[in-house]
Formats: sequence, structure tokens, C-alpha cells
Amino acid sequence: MTNPPRYTLQPYKGIWSRYTCPQCLRHKVFSRYIDITTDEPIADDVGRCSREVNCGYHLKPSEYFKSIDHRPWTIAGNGNGFGYQPLTYKDFEPSYLPKRVIRQTVRHYDDNHFVQYLAAKFGREVAYSQARLYLVGTSKHWPGACIFWEVDNADRVRTGKIMLYNAQTGKRVKEPFNHIAWAHVLSQKSGVYSQKSEKTNDSRLWTKDFNLKQCLFGEHLLQYYPRMPVAICESEKTAIIASIYYPELLWLAAGSLQGLNAGKCKCLEGRTVILVPDVNAYEQWVTKAGQLSAALPAVNFRVMRFLEDAATPQQKAAGWDVADYL
Ligand SMILES: [Zn+2]
Repeated sequence: MTNPPRYTLQPYKGIWSRYTCPQCLRHKVFSRYIDITTDEPIADDVGRCSREVNCGYHLKPSEYFKSIDHRPWTIAGNGNGFGYQPLTYKDFEPSYLPKRVIRQTVRHYDDNHFVQYLAAKFGREVAYSQARLYLVGTSKHWPGACIFWEVDNADRVRTGKIMLYNAQTGKRVKEPFNHIAWAHVLSQKSGVYSQKSEKTNDSRLWTKDFNLKQCLFGEHLLQYYPRMPVAICESEKTAIIASIYYPELLWLAAGSLQGLNAGKCKCLEGRTVILVPDVNAYEQWVTKAGQLSAALPAVNFRVMRFLEDAATPQQKAAGWDVADYL
């Protein structure tokens, strides 16, 4: 007899048992996988979106645990913090997109709403050079869309996040749907990244063969600034804008708070790292900083406080991030 599965989708127990989807960001559409022995969710982003056609996000526990970033961290016997307990999950080598995708897309900034917004704010020269530095691409996926390439510190392309901004306001376009797509998904469909798997139109099947291992946005810059203290914020936009105002720090973006983990931060060993939370998120980032410090003692993590202090109640209510201040 085989054992019953250890993880299952959380049964519906009211609207509180449904969450915000990490891909389409719609509220109350996301079912998490829970560990049946503890009733605890595995992670915020392990689960299934109910918008199968318009979103299709489904991260299974087996896929999640395939990533070395996500192997469970357990408390070490010596009580000195966290030890790393390898389980039966196999290490996996991340897949990479061909480097030519950078060359092909890091241009045409006149058609890039996000870069045009930066140009209106900081002038064309600053905007274009900062966009090139951060490898911001222009995508045809939607007219005006940009790509935030995630290139690691060995110049390998992990994926790219495609988003659409309003060129006037600099806000993300979320109507009539949230404009977000992933380069590793699209490039497999279009054959840029060819796979041995059978032909299918189902993006979930295609992505299964791409071993996605995300890195920090801006991580490729670490090699050029070996001693510079690093600041990490949530959004790519904030990182780029902050890098113009605070060039004494090397600004990187985690993509989301959930996206910040020990695996991604390993490349920061030996540095001082200032975590810059969005307004309202200070406490969560302090918790995260504690976990990261325990896992990576060679990184000196600090959490920036001033935004939380400076925010007015209206700003807090609107969930402002650093870029709104700068
Ligand atoms: Zn979704």
C-alpha cells in the first residue's frame, strides 16, 4: 500500500482560505497546498489559481521542492541558528535563456513606456543609460511593454518579467487584466528556447521542463561593484529609480517579498545588505531579515526604517513604495 500524499490543496473553508495569486495578483482566487500533517501551507506561492484560462498558475509541491532555494530549513541541533538538511529532493541545474535575448531587446526605448516615464522624470540620457545598466528590455508582447531581465552574477539569463506601465503615471497597467508575463514561458512557446518535450500549447507543460530558478533583479551588477553595499527593495521600478537618487548603494529588486530567500541572497555573502521594505511591510521584512541572517551569517542584513516612519496615514493606506517618495 502506498502512503497517502503528504500535501493537498487546502479545502475551501470560506473566502479566508483563498489567497492572492502570485502570478495574476487577483485576490481570493488562489488555493494553497497544505501539509496534511501540520495543516500549514508550504509557501505563499505553492498552489493553484482558479483562473485557469486567464492565468493558469499552478505550482505543485514537487516542483517547488525541486528548487534548492526551497528545501526546508530546519533548526540545527547545536542551537546556533539554522542548519541545512538535505532531503531526498535532487539538486537541479537551472535552465538559462540564450544571451542573445538581451542583445535583441535592450533597445528601442522610444517604444518602451517604462523607460519613457523615466525619461520624462530624469531626462533621456539618464533614463536610457540606467535602463541599459539594468538590462531593461523592450517587449512586443504588448505595445510599450518592458522586460526586467533576471541575469545572475555570472551573466546567465534566468528569466525576464514582462510588464506594462503607463508612460505618463509610471503605474503598472492592471486593467482590463494585470499585464505580467514571463520570458521563459513565452520563449519556449515561440521556440527561442527549444525543448525536447512533445509539442503542446499548454504553457504549464512547457514550463515544466524549464528549470526556473529566479535571481535578484540587477544581480549581474554585483561583479562590477564588488565592495558596494547593496540595497534590496521589492519592485524593479523602485530599484532603478532609487539607483538614480542613491548611487552610493547598489540597488537590486526581489520582485516580491516572498521572492526573497536564502538561495537568492547567497550571492551577497561578504556584503552589507540593506532591505528596503515597501510601506506597511516593515514588520514582515524584519522577520525575513532574521531568517536570512540565520541562514547566511556572512551577510550583514539591516532593514531600513525611515520609510515606515515618514509615511503619512494616506500614503500607508495607498501602500506607497520607495519610488513614490523619491
Ligand atoms: Zn492567477
